[in-house]
Amino acid sequence: MAATQTTDRLGTLAERARAIVGPVWVLSDPAQLSTYECDGLTNQRERPGLVVLPASTDEVAAVVRACHELGIPFVARGAGSGLSGGAMPRAEGVVIGLARMREILAVDLPNRRVTVQPGVTNLAITEAVAPHGFYYAPDPSSQQVCTIGGNLAENAGGAHCLKYGFTVNHALSAVVVLADGAVVRLGADAPDAPGLDLLGVLIGSEGTCGIVTEAVVGILPKPQHVETLVAFFDTVEEGGETVSAIISAGIVPAAVEMMDRLAIEAARAVTKMDWDAESALIVELDGPESEVRSQFEAVTRICAAHHAREVRVAASPAERAAIWTARKSAFAAAGRLAPAYRVQDGVIPRTRLPEVLRGIAALSERYGLRVANVFHAGDGNLHPLVLYDSAVPEQVEQSEELAMAIVALCVEFGGSITGEHGVGTEKACSMPKMFDGDDLTAFDRVRGAFDPDGLCNPDKLLPTPRLCGEVPGFHRVHPVERAGLGDRL
Ligand SMILES: Cc1cc2nc3c(=O)[nH]c(=O)nc-3n(C[C@H](O)[C@H](O)[C@H](O)COP(=O)(O)OP(=O)(O)OC[C@H]3O[C@@H](n4cnc5c(N)ncnc54)[C@H](O)[C@@H]3O)c2cc1C
Repeated sequence: MAATQTTDRLGTLAERARAIVGPVWVLSDPAQLSTYECDGLTNQRERPGLVVLPASTDEVAAVVRACHELGIPFVARGAGSGLSGGAMPRAEGVVIGLARMREILAVDLPNRRVTVQPGVTNLAITEAVAPHGFYYAPDPSSQQVCTIGGNLAENAGGAHCLKYGFTVNHALSAVVVLADGAVVRLGADAPDAPGLDLLGVLIGSEGTCGIVTEAVVGILPKPQHVETLVAFFDTVEEGGETVSAIISAGIVPAAVEMMDRLAIEAARAVTKMDWDAESALIVELDGPESEVRSQFEAVTRICAAHHAREVRVAASPAERAAIWTARKSAFAAAGRLAPAYRVQDGVIPRTRLPEVLRGIAALSERYGLRVANVFHAGDGNLHPLVLYDSAVPEQVEQSEELAMAIVALCVEFGGSITGEHGVGTEKACSMPKMFDGDDLTAFDRVRGAFDPDGLCNPDKLLPTPRLCGEVPGFHRVHPVERAGLGDRL
């Protein structure tokens, strides 16, 4: 009965959506729908009931209003590069894809801000303002494909967020379609706007508080001078200790990134670099030339004091780009080391890096699976890549257990279950590792205020009975489980 009603409702929605966006932008063919089954977390999939591709705020609002009236859950999708299942749809739900909304609407250099549609890629902003000497600071390694809508939803970070902060530090305002189709502007383009910081709530809420249809972000002038080095060490611990020593010396580099031997091997397989070490530390400093030069000397001395075997300094923009290509290729290159891999994301206090890396090595040995480490060392944001063979069922299970054991290790050392890839469905059941029932209830109340019917990206971010069973002390106010299924169907 409920299944028939769901089909009827989706049919009605499809009809209404065709009238709103045009028939060609409503996908219902199973072959087309399968493209939208998952994001970068490919082991969790669900084929949506419908995909709608609107082209404007008005069209998004009209589609969301129709979902609201029909009681159909929906999820926004940018590029689908998320790694925690955030854009995974529900079978009885709708994907609202923002890929057609990719215009840069305004570049305001005197006020150092750019207005974009949500489907604009992260890198496109920098490309648009680079000829004028500006750039957009948050730089996820996926920046060539990921969208600003997805970046706001995940509060995306990147190599240079150590010094410049995450997306939340650069977003000024956003036009948002709420779960009932209302259109609001959150934040303000002038500093210190009065009222509640609802933009702050939206950023990092993983698409559960509404759909961003326009964003204003700040841009920065390119730094006067940049120096980049890569230091090689005979142990991972020495690399980790060097990171702590640099920060303890009062230096705030633009980026401090680390790769272990396996990650180096992976990158070597897809780039021309000849790196060969137990760990490689990339340090970039930027700012006024005299300051950068003196800090760079200090960093070089610290590397030597921690037994760096070799320090290579980028002598040209091309050499700098080659260092970053090596670092940024490491995720995808892990596919050269094993038939499959899981990207994990956890945070630890950076002073605990050597201990946690030892702990990860011990877990890797216990599970008999290799782990490559490539991460934002300056932020203590780890990205262990758990390598496995997807054709061996035990390895699939063990890789998942190992990945979650690494997350538990991060929490044990005073860190967090995620740094920048989000909670999504992957870690919703791990939220009680960090938050007690009262904390989760408080989150749920806020979320319920944005989306009282539980239709906006259900099953993400917070543990639900469907995914995780009941969590003691978590008094749910937000009817996630009812979304599109329960008493309205
Ligand atoms: C190789 C690789 C490297 C990566 N490196 C980094 C990194 O360095 N730093 C980092 O932070 N992340 C990284 N990521 C993860 C990912 O790219 C980011 O999370 C990114 O912000 C997702 O953007 P997207 O457009 O692909 O969003 P999607 O994957 O489509 O969606 C992600 C979430 O955002 C929501 N969403 C999307 N658009 C909107 C919108 N307009 N309004 C409201 N909600 C929306 C979705 O519902 C979903 O919950 C990496 C991923 C890959 C594959």
